[in-house]
Amino acid sequence: MDSDIKLNPFEVALSNLSISSDFDSKDFAQILDDKHPSLKEEFNLPKINKVTFKRHLPVANGDSNAVYFCGNSLGLQPKITKKLINEELEVWAESGVNGHFDHPHERPWALIDDHVIEESAKIVGAKASEVAILNSLTSNLHFAMISFYRPTPMKYKILMESKAFPSDYFAFQSQVKYHGFDPKDAIIQLEPRKGEYTLRTEDIIKKIKEEGNQIALVLFSGVQYYTGQCFNMKEITKAGHEMNCVVGFDLAHAVGNVVLKLHDWDVDFACWCTYKYLNSGPGNIGGLFIHGKHANSQIPRLSGWWGAKPENKFDMALNFDPVFGANAYRLSNPCVIAVVALLGSLSVFKKTTMLELRQRSILLTGYLEKLLLNIDSNQNKFRIITPKNHMERGCQLSLQFSSSEEMIKIFEGLNIEGIVVDERKPDVIRVSPAPLYNTFADCFKFAEVLKKLLQTV
Ligand SMILES: *Cc1c(COP(=O)(O)O)cnc(C)c1O
Repeated sequence: MDSDIKLNPFEVALSNLSISSDFDSKDFAQILDDKHPSLKEEFNLPKINKVTFKRHLPVANGDSNAVYFCGNSLGLQPKITKKLINEELEVWAESGVNGHFDHPHERPWALIDDHVIEESAKIVGAKASEVAILNSLTSNLHFAMISFYRPTPMKYKILMESKAFPSDYFAFQSQVKYHGFDPKDAIIQLEPRKGEYTLRTEDIIKKIKEEGNQIALVLFSGVQYYTGQCFNMKEITKAGHEMNCVVGFDLAHAVGNVVLKLHDWDVDFACWCTYKYLNSGPGNIGGLFIHGKHANSQIPRLSGWWGAKPENKFDMALNFDPVFGANAYRLSNPCVIAVVALLGSLSVFKKTTMLELRQRSILLTGYLEKLLLNIDSNQNKFRIITPKNHMERGCQLSLQFSSSEEMIKIFEGLNIEGIVVDERKPDVIRVSPAPLYNTFADCFKFAEVLKKLLQTV
């Protein structure tokens, strides 16, 4: 992946810092935080007594900030978001329908999503005309598949990974049935080798070569939600295209996490949600990438009035004249409050770049990994199932425990200490130091608490 990022995090950090202190110390974490500051001041951090699993227990330091490692599930709220939403509520209260065209903050609702396209495109490595902000993730997957899953009697299969997020599988299953095929035959679910947790790129490519003649669509996640593996999107796309397959990605866990170059990698389409690493708020609006090479093609697409050129939108004539690019996929006028919530978060991203964030993130996750291996170097008590190589992972580390019971005990123990992680059945805890707001001190605290808990369970 991020082929332009070639640093061994510890070598770089240690040589840059030239310090002798033990890395497993609060002081070392502080030095790293001073050297590589986060943007956490831009966010509201949840309080310990609000995040604890067992609310009835009195929690020491209940009013202090929790350590939040769940940005892979729901990103934190940027401080600016409330202000932007309140502004829209006021415009609505005071101007009513007029807000569509005349807006005191220069955000007329009729063109509201124009404000979130450019920064979104930067984050996914696309041209502005290749990105639309609309609907939500699974819906966008379906709308994209209407265009890009065009099975024929010979070439009708979908290649995916066996452990994909269930919603993706349900989408594929229903699309396959919709076209009259049997999911058991038409969906190829690639599994890791025996004894391995993640897929090897070479095995994915081999499968594409072997069965490509029958594969209509290759669709992987960018970063796997369970293991944290970052797929080699560039190589997968290339292999798919060599066999004449359409290649799409679900970027739910990749966007705002790793460097993406959708345009240069020649990806056909991609979908993402904005409430994970993009911090736009629970259930908020989704994103869609359609490569520019498809913009002028005659691919079928489902349409609605919001996909028409803005100058014609209110003519109410019945000739549909679509806007150029991905925005032609818009059906409905978007929820303004949803869009400005995304705008709030993107304004934080604007203070940095994905490359800068990713470099800090590699170091941050590398630091956490080093602390964890120091607790349990033989991986007897837990195993990190996320790939070791930073090129093959994003910020998340997935820790697999020896049993489901032990995992739950550890999960609850962390939670009572105000450390927010999430558990995924049967036996995994996911820890995601988010590039924007997690600190090296957060990682140190996590490792310290985990070490203590492992001695007691
Ligand atoms: C989070 C996530 C989803 C969620 O889908 P919605 O349609 O936004 O509810 C889907 N797929 C993957 C891979 C995810 O990680």
